[in-house]
Amino acid sequence: MGDKILETIGLTVQFGGFKAISDLNFSVNQGELRVILGPNGAGKTTLMDLITGKTKPTSGRILYDNHEISGMEPYQTAKLGIGRKFQNPHVFDNMTVMENIEVAFRGFDRVFQALFYQKKADIKDRIEHILSTIGLKSKADRMAANLSHGERQWLEIGMLLAQDPKLIILDEPTAGMTAEETYKTGELILTVFKDRSVIVVEHDMAFVRQISNIVTVLHQGKFLAEGPLAEIEQNAKVQEVYLKE
Ligand code: ADP
Repeated sequence: MGDKILETIGLTVQFGGFKAISDLNFSVNQGELRVILGPNGAGKTTLMDLITGKTKPTSGRILYDNHEISGMEPYQTAKLGIGRKFQNPHVFDNMTVMENIEVAFRGFDRVFQALFYQKKADIKDRIEHILSTIGLKSKADRMAANLSHGERQWLEIGMLLAQDPKLIILDEPTAGMTAEETYKTGELILTVFKDRSVIVVEHDMAFVRQISNIVTVLHQGKFLAEGPLAEIEQNAKVQEVYLKE
């Protein structure tokens, strides 16, 4: 595999006396889809918060696309191209599906905003393309509040696509979904984020099997194991941690 898009070196964050992430060395290659597994409290969300700048490390480094990003604010990491989808969809309920995608384009950057007005037709095509990709073209004029839970999640994936991030972080993208919606989300992720750099935090093992490439397992804020899912499932340390759950 090619160059690294993300690397953490000795990454540590301490809350009071408690290390939620402890001396973590972790990396993701360009164009790779990486799944992060780990029992509740393993530090998965904290790691995503550190990468996006929501939480600042106590020590250690985070390198992204040749930038040192440790200590940056979320708007700075977003500007550098790190896009995150949260567990609960962050969509604007009082806007239509189409308007949500438009806002994702325009809100990204002032320069982008200028581009939006100059090349409105191009952007319109891209919005339409995104709407068909996420399967919401027929609902473009519907208020986001009136979408199903699954559709709201897909809309947020569409909003991420509009921002064209270089590193995509999906935090439990199937949370609260039915099995059918979960499967559809897996297909969507495999299609729209093909050849992109993606980190997915997920619990649902059927979904992990569907999308999986390399899996990293965290436990108590530390690196526990890494490899293809089939190997990870046979790993004695991993089995022990999950049996204790
Ligand atoms: P996961 O996402 O793997 O379930 P988290 O990253 O949410 O785990 O949490 C890891 C540990 O860090 C948990 O024990 C949690 O209680 C603790 N933690 C997370 N954020 C904070 C915080 N802001 N202050 C104190 N403890 C925290």
